[in-house]
Amino acid sequence: MVTNKSAHEQQAIIIGSGIAGAATALFLKKAGIKATVYEAYPRLTTIGGAMSLGPNGMNVLAELGLAEKLKSQGAPLERLHFRNQTGKRLAETSSGTVEKYGYTSVALHRSALLELVLNEADRQGIAFEYEKRLTGYTQQGNQVVAQFEDGSTATGDYIIGADGIHSQVRSVMLPNGPKPEYTGHVAIGGFVDENYRDWDNSGDLKKTVLTFGPEGSFGYCNTKSGVPQWGWWSTYGQAKEPTKAELDAFTDEQLEQMLLKRHASWVAPVKEFIQHSIMFIKTPIYDVPALPTWHVGRAVLIGDAAHAMSPHAGQGASVALEDAMYLAKMLRDYPFEQAVERYQTARKARAEKICKTGRDNAARQVDATPAQARMRDMVMSIILPLMGDRMQDWIFKYKINWED
Ligand SMILES: Cc1cc2nc3c(=O)[nH]c(=O)nc-3n(C[C@H](O)[C@H](O)[C@H](O)COP(=O)(O)OP(=O)(O)OC[C@H]3O[C@@H](n4cnc5c(N)ncnc54)[C@H](O)[C@@H]3O)c2cc1C
Repeated sequence: MVTNKSAHEQQAIIIGSGIAGAATALFLKKAGIKATVYEAYPRLTTIGGAMSLGPNGMNVLAELGLAEKLKSQGAPLERLHFRNQTGKRLAETSSGTVEKYGYTSVALHRSALLELVLNEADRQGIAFEYEKRLTGYTQQGNQVVAQFEDGSTATGDYIIGADGIHSQVRSVMLPNGPKPEYTGHVAIGGFVDENYRDWDNSGDLKKTVLTFGPEGSFGYCNTKSGVPQWGWWSTYGQAKEPTKAELDAFTDEQLEQMLLKRHASWVAPVKEFIQHSIMFIKTPIYDVPALPTWHVGRAVLIGDAAHAMSPHAGQGASVALEDAMYLAKMLRDYPFEQAVERYQTARKARAEKICKTGRDNAARQVDATPAQARMRDMVMSIILPLMGDRMQDWIFKYKINWED
């Protein structure tokens, strides 16, 4: 049944106050639609390591008036430098230019991005309800009733599942649908102590440096304006999915020793960064296989709930921001059923193609025999200078026009 409520008569329920949920609330407000965001945890923005936002994500933030603020907190990334563990340069590609895309990529703390969108949502008076864990929802005519763990309910015209990779909205919407899959990779990441100044290579300040060896890969980039703060990550393959207990059992000292062993003879500053790190995060990597649909009845999925991807795409947050803007624009212009169908048509294939890129990138970043590593070096040094910029162009150049 089609409802013809105008934008300002609609009440949206958003589940999850991550980047996708908070950005959706901001775009819905811009569209004149009221939304309340329900979040399972207390307001928290300190989780996460280093991340980068692509020019496509920056263009979405610009529409919210947040791109310049973000730039002032993070660090511009202009180049992606590939080398092997001996320091041999393999290739260098662009991370986006202002001339071509309006923005370069920007590296930052994931928490800084979340803080930025949440603060803006607070400033605009958007309603958030914390410690509200969704357990289920039902559709009653043209309304949705969300149920929370504490026994309370909320009623709205539709429910937007922005509740991340293990989405409960998705579980209710597609009870027999695909579940998140372990990719066979584990990422460890951290930040270098700001007081560690021995690595003062100004040539690296605007680059992501990715080093490949037989024992996986190690990447780093500056994540802050002003005094640099280096963020780093290391990926390795592990066929068996680690359990939470196994992950929790690792102390920072054990992780440091394990990494120092893996990267023992690697080019500087790999060992130095590990030794001067102030935190270690260990994360098994999952992604969500292509879903049969992103919407059923009066429920729709966005961000990681719809298409969680390997961090090796470097695009999860950027694509979530694109989703938020596109979905809100459709809800502004069309009745719900048409809006979500148009949203899915425009967004699903793109997000799934970027997910695949993430899996392919990850496969290149894990352990290899010496012969495989030599082959990888050779292929990268031939292919990337020829194709590298083109391989990113279709991702970076995507732009949604809010006005048309
Ligand atoms: C190691 C790592 C590195 C990454 N690096 C990058 C990068 O460089 N660039 C990039 O663009 N992306 C990166 N990503 C991906 C990026 O962080 C995510 O794609 C992005 O944060 C998606 O946001 P989201 O809002 O969809 O999901 P989330 O950030 O997961 O937010 C979901 C929210 O929903 C809440 N929630 C969950 N269940 C419920 C419930 N039942 N009821 C109420 N609330 C609930 C959660 O508490 C959470 O606050 C990385 C991810 C990882 C794991």
